[in-house]
Amino acid sequence: MNATFVIIGGGIAGVSCAESLAFLSPEENIILISSSSLIKTVTNIIPLGKTIYKFDVEENQSSTLESKYSSIKVINDKVINVDPINMTINTSTGIIINYKKLCICTGAKANVLFENKNPNIIGIRDTESVDKFSNKIKNAKKIIVIGNGGIATELIHEISNVDIIWVIKDKHISATFIDPGAAEFFQNKLTKQPDKKSNNKILKRYKYTDTQINHDDNKIGAALGPDWHEKFTINGSNDNLKNVKIEYECEVLRLLSNDDIDKLNDDNKWPVYIELTNGKIIGCDFIVSATGVVPNTDLSGIDNIEKINNGYSVDWKLETSIKNIFAAGDCCTANWDISQHWIQMKLWTQAHQMGRYAAKSMYSLNNCDDFYQDFCFELFTHVTKFFGYKVVLLGLYNGQKLNNDYEILLRMTKDIEYIKLIIKNGKMQGAVLIGDTDLEEMCENLILDQLDLSAYGEQLLDPDIDIEDYFD
Ligand SMILES: Cc1cc2nc3c(=O)[nH]c(=O)nc-3n(C[C@H](O)[C@H](O)[C@H](O)COP(=O)(O)OP(=O)(O)OC[C@H]3O[C@@H](n4cnc5c(N)ncnc54)[C@H](O)[C@@H]3O)c2cc1C
Repeated sequence: MNATFVIIGGGIAGVSCAESLAFLSPEENIILISSSSLIKTVTNIIPLGKTIYKFDVEENQSSTLESKYSSIKVINDKVINVDPINMTINTSTGIIINYKKLCICTGAKANVLFENKNPNIIGIRDTESVDKFSNKIKNAKKIIVIGNGGIATELIHEISNVDIIWVIKDKHISATFIDPGAAEFFQNKLTKQPDKKSNNKILKRYKYTDTQINHDDNKIGAALGPDWHEKFTINGSNDNLKNVKIEYECEVLRLLSNDDIDKLNDDNKWPVYIELTNGKIIGCDFIVSATGVVPNTDLSGIDNIEKINNGYSVDWKLETSIKNIFAAGDCCTANWDISQHWIQMKLWTQAHQMGRYAAKSMYSLNNCDDFYQDFCFELFTHVTKFFGYKVVLLGLYNGQKLNNDYEILLRMTKDIEYIKLIIKNGKMQGAVLIGDTDLEEMCENLILDQLDLSAYGEQLLDPDIDIEDYFD
């Protein structure tokens, strides 16, 4: 088969890339190959600012993409080899495809501690892994969650009727996204059972409905995203409410062997035990390892491609070290002169932005057109929900890159809002906005414009001054 543009991966990055190419260059052939049977499409994009927006994600049969764009062909198969000299790729069913420009969007897989060493340790990444989790939790009384990022935080909030031991290596919860002050704001929400029955709960995003769960280990599903838990049972078997105990500043030292478990003096023999670096030995029904992801970058034929932190290293055009091969989303690592207020993180928004921008880049280079880097790489933005609160993170929200040389302006109203502004030399560098603050657009403008705010001092967050109107 021949196509001008070939994309590997049916997640957000791959589908956004294919759709943008079909829009920019309707006359060229596009082939998207995905090992997952369903593909993910971004819809209902609602801008909240210049670079901040929220969107829904739909999971569809590949035929929907083909019927929407006549130039796109979707193949459900696994790519096993890329030949960059002859510019061809090979799939597991023997298809050979010639490309002019190739974009790799193979995502990442969960980095599971003690992977395959014990069936009672699982990671959460795709629909299949959540299915496994759902089956296990139904009969569980006690589980251990390891990790302190978005997935662990979301899990702790969503699980009901089970005792949870949360093992984190930091001094406060959810450290990937929030500071100790915001962690304190959320602390009393930890043991609250999620309100799943409430009619007032507005679901802003799509709930996953993968009906074709693929049990072939060689095929990798696309990553889940927000609201994945709405479709699955995540209630334990305890009659009493959930109880969350946090083991701060420690990591897992080892997994206990069966011999070790036999020797334990524990009346309640659990299926799995771990020893922590703080010396405690804890047993439970099963362990969720929410300890980050590792990029899927093991395609053969391009072994000499440059990688950083296991991800394909990409330049400002999202081109890898091999000409005509691009990469976007969770599988790549940004390696250009990065703007002061942008940080790469493995998130939906960035997969979407990179997929679209890779398309622009491939299209422009194919036509020998000049182009500029997309404006979205100027400012880091992330809109999410923690413990039922809207959370907006902007720029250097945790003081990243500032070497502790910054001031913090803070306003907190218990149970309502938490606003933190990061200021350096009178200029805003980042913001954490929790609750319905309506300050995202103003903060975005102030970070992008680098307006000198020294004259306003603490008045910036004075609740009696309508600062948003002032700067608009
Ligand atoms: C539980 C969970 C919760 C999350 N919550 C959030 C959140 O709240 N907010 C947020 O922004 N992000 C969240 N994320 C992260 C977000 O889902 C990912 O960053 C994003 O989906 C990555 O998209 P992608 O297209 O790069 O990769 P993926 O979605 O992983 O897609 C990769 C695609 O490549 C295909 N593939 C892989 N190898 C091959 C091959 N050899 N041949 C053919 N096809 C192949 C796969 O089948 C898949 O279709 C969450 C992730 C998880 C797991």
